[in-house]
Amino acid sequence: MKTGIELITEERERQFDVEGLTPDHDDQLPDMALAVAGAAYALDAAGKHTTEHSSWKGTYSDSANMVWPFDDDYFKPTPKDPVKQLIKAGALIAAEIDRYQRRMQQNESEKIQRTLSHDAGAFGQCTCGRYSSNPFILDHNYRCECGEKTGWSGSFKKPTKLAIWSNA
Ligand SMILES: [Zn+2]
Repeated sequence: MKTGIELITEERERQFDVEGLTPDHDDQLPDMALAVAGAAYALDAAGKHTTEHSSWKGTYSDSANMVWPFDDDYFKPTPKDPVKQLIKAGALIAAEIDRYQRRMQQNESEKIQRTLSHDAGAFGQCTCGRYSSNPFILDHNYRCECGEKTGWSGSFKKPTKLAIWSNA
């Protein structure tokens, strides 16, 4: 039997391949919308399958409908298969984690200051391709994850959402 985390990983890949959900698409959403969508699926599953006092069922179901952040057409619960629904919930929350972290990273990279070696907004890029938003990356010999210390040069090309970042 596959574990929850394995099933969520598969669902996340399916979202990319079948539903065409891409990082670029996700990035246009407001913060936490995907997380709330995940919560709605979990609440809806609880509304049908909780073993708490039955009075909770209505509360959970109503809450699911109340918080669902997208058009109603996109809400596709599977009442007979709560596991499937929880996998969806987990995958949506994983998507939010990726999206939110990308956005924080992007904010970080926009803060780069002008130094003697490069203008404001320039990014350091290593010969291996990794970017750095460290404003001193060209002035000092910070070691990149690839092992290089002297591979850094300035790049004014804005890193894409899929850019790989160095912690140097
Ligand atoms: Zn490198």
